[in-house]
Amino acid sequence: MNAPTQGWVVIAGLGPGDEALITSQVRDALAQATDVVGYIPYVRRIAPRDGLTLHESDNRVELDRAAHALDMAAQGRRVVVVSSGDPGVFAMASALFEALEAGPEAWRELDIQVLPGITAMLAAAARIGAPLGHDFCAINLSDNLKPWALIETRLRAAGGAGFAMAFYNPRSKSRPHQFARALEILREECGGDTLISFARAVSTEEERIVTVTLDEATPDMADMRTVVIVGNRDTRRVGRFVYTPRSAE
Ligand code: SAH
Repeated sequence: MNAPTQGWVVIAGLGPGDEALITSQVRDALAQATDVVGYIPYVRRIAPRDGLTLHESDNRVELDRAAHALDMAAQGRRVVVVSSGDPGVFAMASALFEALEAGPEAWRELDIQVLPGITAMLAAAARIGAPLGHDFCAINLSDNLKPWALIETRLRAAGGAGFAMAFYNPRSKSRPHQFARALEILREECGGDTLISFARAVSTEEERIVTVTLDEATPDMADMRTVVIVGNRDTRRVGRFVYTPRSAE
């Protein structure tokens, strides 16, 4: 009889889009996997092969997806849960640990590893120059999992404290007015001449990056494939680049 195979779960980030930005750790995990689990567009980035089952799921079922991955690992399968960018940034790593917390005690002994990826804000910042070169924060503008009032509080606090900021999930069809409101708050807190960059589909063929001032920014400059980066009051242009100095007064 064969020894029972040891299952595992790897929660992996696929980076912003370009295949060259996938780490070799993640490539190795994918090469050894029996199952890949994730949101449809991310799973479609994985080349099919013999012995690999691809499980595509809808966007809003993260917890079910995570429990499914843990259950398969408990049965001896080698499972990669894929996210875009980094799995710890508004993505599957937290969902997996939530499922682990809610699930059977035995799951806690499983071999579970998180493999980092290049998150959208860092890929975007690198294309723009160095807009996140001093203190910065990242805020998810989606109110799927938190109230909009909390998002406004955090925008005011971060803008008022002089952080540069990266915004994920800035705008969707289901909540068209909120991003306009976010821009209003930012103008009040940071001043209308602060630079704002809209980086869409970074590292793919559809990449488009535009930098304007907050006064010039309009809500339609962002969509769900855009990460938005707002500088602090020292953020400036040099040639075709935008950078934030490393020091502040
Ligand atoms: N885990 C991902 C983020 C998932 S949330 C990461 O670390 O990047 C989804 C949001 O990420 C999108 O709404 C968008 O704001 C941003 N995003 C993901 N890929 C992107 C890309 N290639 N270019 C610009 N923004 C991107």
